[in-house]
Amino acid sequence: MTHAVLSALGLTGQESGTYLGNGEWSKTRDAGVIEPVNPGDGEVLGKVYASSQADYDLILERAQAAFKVWRTTPAPRRGEAIRLCAEALRTHKDALGSLVALEMGKSKPEGDGEVQEMIDIGEFAVGLSRQLYGLTMHSERPGHRMYEQYHPLGIVGIISAFNFPVAVWAWNSFVAAVCGDISIWKPSPKTPLSAIASMKICNEALASAGFPDIFFLFNDAGTDLAQQFVDDRRIPLISFTGSTRVGRTVGERVARRMGRSLLELGGNNAIIVDPTADLKLAIPAIVFGAVGTAGQRCTTTRRLFVHESIYEDVLGKLVTAYKQVEKKIGDPTDPANLMGPLNSSDGVDAYLDAIAKAKAAGGTVVTGGEKLDRPGNYVLPAIVSGLKNSDDIVQHETFAPILYVMPYAELEDAIAMQNDVPQGLSSAIFTTNLKAAEAFLSAAGSDCGIANVNIGTSGAEIGGAFGGEKETGGGRESGSDAWKVYMRRQTNTINYSDALPLAQGIKFDL
Ligand code: NAD
Repeated sequence: MTHAVLSALGLTGQESGTYLGNGEWSKTRDAGVIEPVNPGDGEVLGKVYASSQADYDLILERAQAAFKVWRTTPAPRRGEAIRLCAEALRTHKDALGSLVALEMGKSKPEGDGEVQEMIDIGEFAVGLSRQLYGLTMHSERPGHRMYEQYHPLGIVGIISAFNFPVAVWAWNSFVAAVCGDISIWKPSPKTPLSAIASMKICNEALASAGFPDIFFLFNDAGTDLAQQFVDDRRIPLISFTGSTRVGRTVGERVARRMGRSLLELGGNNAIIVDPTADLKLAIPAIVFGAVGTAGQRCTTTRRLFVHESIYEDVLGKLVTAYKQVEKKIGDPTDPANLMGPLNSSDGVDAYLDAIAKAKAAGGTVVTGGEKLDRPGNYVLPAIVSGLKNSDDIVQHETFAPILYVMPYAELEDAIAMQNDVPQGLSSAIFTTNLKAAEAFLSAAGSDCGIANVNIGTSGAEIGGAFGGEKETGGGRESGSDAWKVYMRRQTNTINYSDALPLAQGIKFDL
């Protein structure tokens, strides 16, 4: 299986982790080796040779040169380049989706879905390439015209997390590319093969149509190069996706050099189920939200607030559904399975540690809570009741399938609890009551970057701006006007009169 997937993507399993531009992959072999592991069975999937300081220096030099050419390439022509990338990804969707499943551990349909997301954002970016609009304004001065325009920003540094090993790169790099930027990617050391495969697919598509290099890649054996990347003044924007712990230091370091950062960090997402909710919608949405990707999405449902009048009923239905999921935990590349393994043994330790802490705090593990006795990082999805929203463990994002279920009496209290965590990414309410839905979406409602009605917390579409508030970092990427962060904004005033009137009517007669 592994061999077939790798060879379908033109990989041998002995890969250079550095794309230097000009069609060259680095020959560096002495800067460390990364060995990604299939979390389903512990098999080493291949060897990836990490990048050296010299590789990094060369990439930066070439990216700077590439920017000078790309920034003056007309934006719709840049869109054509991304259209070719999206087409090439469509051709390789099955194989790349399988590699994502093998290397990250998400199910095959979710792996394919991630590649579909790359294609979708590619198509979005093509349209965007003709819509990088600025406004025109009416000047207060006679004979003057004012407008604003958006220019390419420069090099965009992308640091990504293991759980979306390919889509996050496409969200950033495809939009950045139509904006006229060059991107350099440092992927997670847990998923380097998926990154190398994506890079090959897109760069070959670009090169075969005569486009210049716009995407570069390096892999870091430790974090030395990544930290240098964050501090590098030649990179005006660092887009970081990962934990709040690392993202906080990245944000601080970029701010220190007055750079721009786009932070997409941890979530602690909740669903509210009110007494009028349609449980035919709510139950599957909660289960997919809590269990999908084995609880390793930033938008995973981690907390559930259920109205006290239906609390026992909802809990019972969830337990029944979880028992169904338990029968379909296994090899992520088998499309019949609903849940794969956790990505690493560290993830299993964090899961077991959270279960122990939940019990110590007085929680009851209603279902799940154990590691499965078989090779690979498989755990049972867990539901925990009897804890308060303010309990330490509930306030914390454990990157695993653990759902804390809590009853509430008044919607106001449920909204207050849903907001009372450090993170602010995704949220949802299930209700058929218009007043409840509108209260949840109002200025006094959910404080998250994403707030849904009768849809779960995970599985966002690319058309909207994606991101969250508070310790989720405040960044927005993907659709809507998220493109503006990849460009520099300029206000222009043109005087076509014979006088020089000053703004605000100021007189300065010489
Ligand atoms: P992580 O923070 O451990 O690693 C993320 C990336 O940062 C990796 O590429 C890693 O190598 C790199 N890194 C580590 N130390 C660094 C340093 N000192 N300087 C620069 N880079 C460094 O996160 P993870 O475990 O890979 O991913 C899981 C986390 O990501 C979860 O918290 C999840 O919620 C979050 N996430 C958020 C979003 C979002 O859009 N909000 C999306 C996906 C994942």
